[in-house]
Amino acid sequence: MTPLLTDTLCTNCGLCCDGTLFADVELVGLSEVARLEIMGMEVENEGRNTGLLSQPCAALRGTRCGIYAHRPKCCRLFECHLLQNAQLGAVTVERAMEQIADAREQIRQVRAMLGRLGNRDEALPIKERCAETLAAQGGTTSETKDRADLEAAMATLEKTIWNTFLGSGQRRE
Ligand code: SF4
Ligand code: SF4
Repeated sequence: MTPLLTDTLCTNCGLCCDGTLFADVELVGLSEVARLEIMGMEVENEGRNTGLLSQPCAALRGTRCGIYAHRPKCCRLFECHLLQNAQLGAVTVERAMEQIADAREQIRQVRAMLGRLGNRDEALPIKERCAETLAAQGGTTSETKDRADLEAAMATLEKTIWNTFLGSGQRRE
């Protein structure tokens, strides 16, 4: 991975850590699980040597990893579709930055809509928050309209997630 590109793109993004692209990070190996637990991270134990770190990740500080030097292997290896394309020169760094900014604006709008509909649970991945809110029935005509707007905004964000960030890139689930 080109350090310059991760410095430029990833430190202004964080979508693979904040619950937008993924719901959790897979930890492999007893030492990795133990290391994260020693650092005070809550790990959901899956088996003797595996665990899951829920997202939004508690180590995320703004758009940067707060435990960068000690981050799990899965985080070290992950490169989204956009980062891969930027590394290959298929997309310019400027265009990649614009795409990150566009996605972050879409996320901001979805979060604002969730807040207006009373869902302020920032500890959940955004897709889960939307599913919870959209499952609610009834309410005023205005709430019904707000839910329809939320559904449309989340559908647009899902397209962005797949087309720009996941694409054919490797999954981190
Ligand atoms: S989603 Fe892609 S560009 Fe954003 S932080 Fe993750 S790897 Fe970097
Ligand atoms: S440990 Fe760091 S790199 Fe991994 S998901 Fe959390 S914030 Fe992101």
